[in-house]
This record gives sequence, structure tokens and C-alpha cells, in this order.
Amino acid sequence: MKESNDFKVARYGVLGGTFDPIHNAHLFVAESVLEELNLDKIIFIPSGIPPHKADHKITRADHRLMMTALATNSNERFFVSPMEVNREGKSYTVHTMRELRDENFSAAEFYFIIGADAFIEIETWAMYEELLKITNFVVVTRLGSDDEVLDKIIEKCKHEFGADIYKVTIPNLEISSTDIRSRVEQGKRVEYLIPSAVVEYIKKYNLYSSSTS
Ligand code: ATP
Ligand code: MG
Repeated sequence: MKESNDFKVARYGVLGGTFDPIHNAHLFVAESVLEELNLDKIIFIPSGIPPHKADHKITRADHRLMMTALATNSNERFFVSPMEVNREGKSYTVHTMRELRDENFSAAEFYFIIGADAFIEIETWAMYEELLKITNFVVVTRLGSDDEVLDKIIEKCKHEFGADIYKVTIPNLEISSTDIRSRVEQGKRVEYLIPSAVVEYIKKYNLYSSSTS
């Protein structure tokens, strides 16, 4: 994008996810990418109905949105958008990135942040060719994802679609929402894996326990 001397284009990271619940690795990923790419801010976007997670019951979107807001509240560069939660139907990233681009014209550039486990499956995403063309990607390493496979897919996407993809290597943090849900269900502690405000929220609304409907 063209930059003139008196007009600085803002650079925003976008971290999409189910955030069921948001955990410290999500926050660490956001902070690492913000620093590494020197971005202005990170927008966390919880999905409404995620297209990829038909295998387990997803917690109500208002709870996931609220936990994301609580977790990011203390960081002045972290923001939360309800745009996918408010949209009807399944949440497709391509719609989100189109909307962000169209709303901001040429005032901002967006960097879609994604973990290696999710990027490896990018070719299963709706309209992924368009998505790769319209947005920059930042792929973050994740424990359990084969680095060679990842590099091959990154190269393929760059070559075939002219995609702009940055790879950021972070220290492995073995934290996942799946594990948090299972710990809560088993009555195990989740302190220090998720922010304390999120621990309190889960207790208050009795989320992830087997008695939750
Ligand atoms: P679940 O176990 O329910 O799939 P999750 O921990 O993978 O949850 P998501 O909401 O699916 O969390 O992830 C949102 C984004 O954050 C994805 O791009 C995912 O790859 C990335 N991500 C989540 N946890 C990590 C982690 N520990 N390291 C690197 N990236 C992560
Ligand atoms: Mg996941």
C-alpha cells in the first residue's frame, strides 16, 4: 500500500477464534505478533457460529465475547469486536476481512493472525483463495504442528495466490481451550492458564461443568 509522508496507514492485527474460553496462549500470541510486526493494535474477534467446530457444543456467543473482553481489558492495544457474533449464520473469515477492509478504505492494513494448526487446514476454509489475496497472514507456530508441512503450505500459498504470509516463531505453550474445558469439567484448577477474571466468570456462570446445559 502506498504511503505519503503526512498520512500513516494504521496496521492492525486480527485474531479470530472460538475463544471457548480465551486463554493465556491467545494473549501471548497477540502480544508476540504485535511486538514482532510492530502493529498498532490487535482486534480479537470471537466467532459467532464457527464452521469448523461441529464436533463439540460451543458455548453461547455472549459468554465467549464477554470472556474475551474481560481477558483483554487491561491491555490498551487489545480490542474486541462483536462483528462475527452479531452476524447471522456461520462466521467466515473472508466476510470479516472484506468488511474490515471496506469499512476502513485505505486507512488501515490488516494482518490476520492464525496458529499453525489452523493454517495447515487453510485450503478447507470457505473462499480461501480470496482470503489469501485480500489479507496479510501471520502464522504463529504451535506445539503439535509439523513445521515442514507448515512451511510447504506457506510456500504453496505464496506461490499460487501471491499471498503475503509472515511466520512468527513463539515459545511453545501447551495451552488449548479443549484442555481448559476438560480441566473444568474434571474439577481441576485452571488458574494461571487463563486470566483470573475469566476464571471468575466461568465459576459465576458455571460454564464447562457437565451439569451445564
Ligand atoms: P480449541 O481447543 O477449542 O480448538 P484453541 O485453544 O485451539 O481451542 P481457538 O479459539 O481454536 O483456541 O484458537 C484461535 C486461534 O489461536 C487459532 O488460530 C489457534 O491456532 C491459535 N492458538 C490457540 N492456542 C494456541 C497456542 N497454544 N499456540 C499458538 N496458537 C494458538
Ligand atoms: Mg483450535
